Amino acid sequence: LTQPQTSQGLHIVHIAAEIAPVAKVGGLGDVVLGLSKALQRKGHLVEIVLPKYDCLQEDQIIELKALDVAVESFFDGQLFKNKIWVGIVEGLPVYFIEPHHPSKFFWRGEFYGEHDDFKRFSFFSRAALELLYQAGKKPDIIHCHDWQTAFVAPLYWDIYAAKGFNSARICFTCHNFEYQGTAHFSELSSCGLDIQRLNRPDRMQDNSVPDRINPLKGAIVFSNIVTTVSPTYAQEVCTPEGGRGLHGTLRLHSKKFVGVLNGIDTDSWNPSTDIILPVQYSADELQGKAENKRALRTQLELSSADAFQPLVCCITRLVPQKGVHLIRHAIYQTVELGGQFVLLGSSPVAHIQRDFEGIASHFKNHPHVRLLLKYDDALSHMIYAASDMFIIPSLFEPCGLTQMIAMRYGSVPIVRRTGGLNDSVFDVDDDSIPVQYRNGFTFLTPNEQELNNAMERAFKYYKKSPENWQKLVQKIMRLDFSWESSAQQYEELYEKTVTRARAAANV
Ligand code: ADP
Repeated sequence: LTQPQTSQGLHIVHIAAEIAPVAKVGGLGDVVLGLSKALQRKGHLVEIVLPKYDCLQEDQIIELKALDVAVESFFDGQLFKNKIWVGIVEGLPVYFIEPHHPSKFFWRGEFYGEHDDFKRFSFFSRAALELLYQAGKKPDIIHCHDWQTAFVAPLYWDIYAAKGFNSARICFTCHNFEYQGTAHFSELSSCGLDIQRLNRPDRMQDNSVPDRINPLKGAIVFSNIVTTVSPTYAQEVCTPEGGRGLHGTLRLHSKKFVGVLNGIDTDSWNPSTDIILPVQYSADELQGKAENKRALRTQLELSSADAFQPLVCCITRLVPQKGVHLIRHAIYQTVELGGQFVLLGSSPVAHIQRDFEGIASHFKNHPHVRLLLKYDDALSHMIYAASDMFIIPSLFEPCGLTQMIAMRYGSVPIVRRTGGLNDSVFDVDDDSIPVQYRNGFTFLTPNEQELNNAMERAFKYYKKSPENWQKLVQKIMRLDFSWESSAQQYEELYEKTVTRARAAANV
């Protein structure tokens, strides 16, 4: 197995289900990539472990090769061989685990949504730890993400630490408390965890349904550091309304729980170097933005009659969390206000996808509305660059990356004040906020009236003074949403727990 080069900093291993751009479903993939790159820049040795999905974007992996060893890992009472691949993703070493299990866990043509996801990812969590153990690695931090790799925390402390593989402390980040991965408690033993020991109210038993086991809860109980992706969301999930049944557990473990606002990868999201765009541009050289708007309108066969007509956009997974009824309303409201609307989104929920297909065909040849119901990364870059305003009416939003990307591309966000949106977008008309922080339009109650109000204020601002709008665009493009400060917060959390562990070991 590849040995890490020596490094002055910490040795950090992320175990995750996604990393952009090779395996990305949503924000998780962006975070694993962006945080890892920022930590590497700070001098830490960062490695990543992922499943070897058949749908990986392998053209984005440099020097992908199978290693000459097979790692055997435990599942359902026996050992299974895993082929280990290694490659470089944007300068980061990534291990990909390919299980030789008859269920072909990662040969499904998709990342999630399979009937046996609990098995797939508990298998992967165990195999990932086995890989680190057998490779003789001595990481300082093992950082796992979301319920899919939450099993790592109890597996590490209950099985691997006892074998002497105990150099690391565990950091767990929950990117969305809506997804907890619960299953009947009998499923837990497949990966070697002890049901008797763990199916208890203070450990992994689900707080709402007692015969179910909750991996997310297990990670909260068994990790040394627990984070989520924004300070406001960290507060929201400690309440009965926001915690999805885990607020009590989080309160009990509040000392180790903190919200750290995500950053964005400012290399991949940079309008002045973005080769996907027809024309690059920057805050100092804004002309290119208008040219991108013209190009997108032409490509989508929207009317180009009025260059000044505002273009409102939305790029999202179409799931209830994102406020789909308000997104639908925003389309009609934009037309009413005299703007143009472009939606890029797709839905894993059949009735939502059908609903939007209906709206898409209603507006099929409309000069001012286009709905693109698919996932398309390149097109997303062009839309961010072309848009004047960006709509995010989420019912809840752990962090949200699209508002930050939109601002970096000079599109003014119109958002509901929740979670990470509340920590990154501040209303232009809110006198209680220092002027230098004001960067968009916000509303609180998730209803059509309040959304209308925010949109009307944005349109008024846009139409009243093009100079002031341009100043706002330049201001938001210059805001710093890079990973630097968030990565520093993670670094401090890691260092504190590592120092404590070392002090305890030396006693
Ligand atoms: P979530 O993780 O809940 O999906 P985030 O705002 O944290 O939401 O991250 C969404 C990421 O996925 C952004 O990078 C956004 O550009 C991208 N994205 C969402 N939908 C699409 C789509 N249909 N096509 C391309 N990119 C998309």
